[in-house]
Amino acid sequence: MIKMINCFRCEFFFTTWNTDFPRGCKAYGFKTREMPAEFVKKTTGTMCLQFREKQISDQPASQSSSLDFRI
Ligand code: SF4
Repeated sequence: MIKMINCFRCEFFFTTWNTDFPRGCKAYGFKTREMPAEFVKKTTGTMCLQFREKQISDQPASQSSSLDFRI
């Protein structure tokens, strides 16, 4: 059995507000109903070759300064 690539762990994956095409791939430039890696496999016959692991910050969210604003 071939293991499928997990788009949720890929930095190119994104979600949309479009209920017909709720998932997308920035690397290949499309939106789709299914997981992008499944769509790539179905349409090209090969596994996704663009997967890039998301970089997770070591800094806890509570210490993040980009969203830390007070009124
Ligand atoms: S590059 Fe591949 S793994 Fe990443 S979102 Fe696109 S299809 Fe999924």
